Amino acid sequence: MRNRCWAASLGGCSEKLSREHIISAAFFEGNNIKAAGFDWTGDKVAEISLKNAVVKVLCKSHNSKLSELDTEIRKISECFSQFNQAVVGGADSSKHSNQFVGQVNGVKFERWLLKTTLNVICASPKKYISFWPDEFLASLVFGKIKFDYHTGMGLYFIHPNLYGNLVSSWNFVNVRPAILTIEGDTGLIGAIISFWGMPFFLKVAASTENLCLNVKGLT
Ligand SMILES: [Zn+2]
Repeated sequence: MRNRCWAASLGGCSEKLSREHIISAAFFEGNNIKAAGFDWTGDKVAEISLKNAVVKVLCKSHNSKLSELDTEIRKISECFSQFNQAVVGGADSSKHSNQFVGQVNGVKFERWLLKTTLNVICASPKKYISFWPDEFLASLVFGKIKFDYHTGMGLYFIHPNLYGNLVSSWNFVNVRPAILTIEGDTGLIGAIISFWGMPFFLKVAASTENLCLNVKGLT
């Protein structure tokens, strides 16, 4: 694994790398989690301590600048957990009501989803062909560039009919980055991210004719 910060292109790195949870600890309960799909898990499911579900891919300075996202994601995780309770009743099916209204900060949610996607990619260089975030991706996470909705970037909710209804009473977080190489250029199209049974697609590539054709060719 490269011993460096994925936000280095923005400048202002501190010397030491921080121990950053690959996926925010706010999503999990208990001391242990099960992990799969990383370079270090191979094709097995590994049970590890939540404390050790970390990766050193952001320096302390850049990580501390993203603390506002961690604060927001605690609220967002709680909101989606309540939504999940309302839909499936959690452990108590008598609480099943099918109705829930919640409000989250969408811009911070998008930035946090991209930060998590980049953590996942940088944690497994073998799987993700040593893809390393460029200044554009780092700028999106740090809010220096906004997701341009006019070009199709941003967060999409995937209808359960397309991706399956995965709502369950326990939290399963799945991050699937989509990396595409066109004529030698490798870029991140986005990622499918699901948690609390709800699948989202975060698109970080602006739509262009070529890109759309190639993305369609993948499916
Ligand atoms: Zn840094």
